[in-house]
Amino acid sequence: MLPIQMVDLQRQYQPIKEEILSGIEAVLDQAAFINGKPVQEFTTDLAQYLGAKHVIPCANGTDALQIAMMALDLQPGDEVITPSFTYIATTEVVALLRLKPVFVEVDRNTFCMDPESVRKAITPKTKAIVPVHLYGQAAPMDEIMQIAQEYNLFVIEDNAQAIGGTYTSKDGTVKKTGTIGHIGCTSFFPSKNLGGYGDGGAICTNDDALADKMRMIANHGQSKRYYHDVVGCNSRLDTIQAVVLKAKLKRLDQYIDARRKAADYYDAAFANSRAIQTPQRAAYAGHVFHQYTLILHGVDRDGLNAHLAAHQIPSMIYYPVPGHRQKMFDSFGLPQYNLETTDWLTERVISLPMHTELDEEQLAYITQTVLSYI
Ligand SMILES: *Cc1c(COP(=O)(O)O)cnc(C)c1O
Repeated sequence: MLPIQMVDLQRQYQPIKEEILSGIEAVLDQAAFINGKPVQEFTTDLAQYLGAKHVIPCANGTDALQIAMMALDLQPGDEVITPSFTYIATTEVVALLRLKPVFVEVDRNTFCMDPESVRKAITPKTKAIVPVHLYGQAAPMDEIMQIAQEYNLFVIEDNAQAIGGTYTSKDGTVKKTGTIGHIGCTSFFPSKNLGGYGDGGAICTNDDALADKMRMIANHGQSKRYYHDVVGCNSRLDTIQAVVLKAKLKRLDQYIDARRKAADYYDAAFANSRAIQTPQRAAYAGHVFHQYTLILHGVDRDGLNAHLAAHQIPSMIYYPVPGHRQKMFDSFGLPQYNLETTDWLTERVISLPMHTELDEEQLAYITQTVLSYI
């Protein structure tokens, strides 16, 4: 059996090796390292894939979130609502911009932002909501957009884990995640569902004015060369990364299928275990399984992790400390949060290997090894 990894990028690379190497070679031959043709080509392809009017490439997913928030003209102390149960980048940029992060709960079964908790957190200072499509599954966007409309708030989707995922509205329209709110942000970190061979990110929007502004912010606030109208930053996608991403975007749906097949295998294998709760698939979502995350009931999680490791199977806790318990926010004078579901999940979740290259032999071995511990 082939060694099992959380993400197997070496094996995913083999069938696309020639296409990528020849594309990178062309970049090197032309020394087109910055804003080379593949950047524009990939940007156009991605806009078409997502069904978004504008895609703005940038240096990483954290920058994408930062640039999005910079474009909203918020004032220090304005409040931005985010789930506590997410990767730190979502909330960190809020604090970096001297805005106030306000943490809310997630749903216990889907791990995504709980709209009722959002409603309760709104104050006159609330300016934006940042739902996270965690582990590859869409947050309940109809409810979130409804609240945003009622209170005139911006919605920035953190789509770093869910590119290619879908959301079906109550009226039946199907959209790609990241294109439902005012702005969608994604990451091309190598282990993400559409990962480069280094850092990368993108922002999408259907709003022309916001697109212009975010393009300007990502490029030193520059309107024309050496004329800087607003304070911006320097955030670009490398040409070499665009070559890789262009090749992988063509195969993204195929990669998503492979992840879904692995998830189906896990679901079936654990269906009869009461100690293991498999990830709930919300009826409205086309889940793309960035992670396959279990909730353990009455199982010693550290023991399971050690048992798997002893059998050469990696497993991870995403994430061991929720946002509202991170030391970085100590100086923010945030209120004491009582986020019971977030704490409950934090103690019980465990993610199994999930990627495009898992074969049946590996999946059988992983599931049997998990079940032998339970
Ligand atoms: C990965 C990730 C980010 C940040 O992306 P980087 O490219 O690593 O900066 C933001 N939010 C979530 C939910 C992520 O998983």
